[in-house]
Parts: sequence; structure tokens; C-alpha cells
Amino acid sequence: MSGSPPLFVGATFKIVQAGDPVLRMPARAVTPEEIRSREMQQLTSRMKDTMRDAPGVGLAAPQVGLSLQLAVIEDRAEYLRGASPEQLLERQREEVPFFVAFNPCIVHASEETAEFFEGCLSVSGFGALVRRSLSVEVEYLDEDAQPQRIEGRGWFARILQHEIDHLNGKLYIDRMEPRSFTTSENLARYWKDLPVADVRERLVPKLVQK
Ligand code: ZN
Repeated sequence: MSGSPPLFVGATFKIVQAGDPVLRMPARAVTPEEIRSREMQQLTSRMKDTMRDAPGVGLAAPQVGLSLQLAVIEDRAEYLRGASPEQLLERQREEVPFFVAFNPCIVHASEETAEFFEGCLSVSGFGALVRRSLSVEVEYLDEDAQPQRIEGRGWFARILQHEIDHLNGKLYIDRMEPRSFTTSENLARYWKDLPVADVRERLVPKLVQK
């Protein structure tokens, strides 16, 4: 596999942070032979452990220093318990079973969008409002290198867009509402429980609203 050697911390990878050039490079596609290799199985397993350890709902290979088109995604039931039923409903957030996506590509994105606070394990300790399509259709190769096509809605659509951005050298900060940028601590303290419309009203005065 190409790319710089991964940094091991026990059984998990060290997650690289904003400023690392690997996060800004378009990742290279993975071949079916590589997907079926033992090394790739070990890599995806270690990425799963790293994502769960963080914890996070998605992790792209560039985030562990490997410029490969590969992401792991999982939104666990236990993560959903931290949010109120209203928040889950507003975000259209539901459990997503673990899966691995190689060479994922958005083939359709809805014009309808939603805006919520989002964070990234590679921009650790911060968050911001990000507007994204409410539903996307994605094609990718699964762990057996078989082509798959899925439709993601709501929070799952957001996760897919966030991870696929990573594979194209993009971070959420490229798409965020800059005035909403906040530390995670202040997000929890001031903004987390407010409806997004109220957050916008307070953070984004009409004169500077895009
Ligand atoms: Zn991220």
C-alpha cells in the first residue's frame, strides 16, 4: 500500500490533525485485488477499532495517514442515547450498522439541504454549522470488492458526504458557516440544545448572512 507508514498506538491508529498534508490530497482508488488482500482486512479492522475508540461515526483512510479511497462508517445505538428524541428526529439520525466503503462516489445529491453542527476527528476539539444535502446516493465497492449502491438520508447522508469529502482532500471547515466555528466545550455550553434557526440568529447577523 502506498502512503506514509501508519502510526500505531497500541491496536489503534493515531488520527492525524488538520495541517497534515495527507488530509488535503485526493486519495487514490483501491484495486479489487488490494481490497481482497489480508493487509486490507487488517487495515479496515484497525480503522474500525480506531473509530470506536475515538469515538466517531466515520473514519477515512487519510485520517490515519493513508491516502487511499477507503472509509469506515458506523452510527451505534449507544451514541444515539446521548441525544434527545427531538434532536434525533430533527437530524433524522438513526443507527447505521458498521460497513466499509472502498472508492465511494456520490452519484446523486438532493437539492434539499439541512444545516447542523458537525465536527471531525481530524479537527479535534471544534465544531461548526455545515449545510449538506439531505439525501445522497453513493456507489462503492464492499469488502468483497462487489459494487454496491446505497441511499443515505438525514444524518447518515451527512456522514457519507463528510467521509467522501475526506477522500477528496476536503474538510468540513471548507464548507462551514465561519461565524459558527466553536470549541466543543462552548458548543456543549451554549449551542448544542438550541434549534439551528436560533443559533443562526445569534451567530450570523443578517448583514453578514450569505
Ligand atoms: Zn472528518
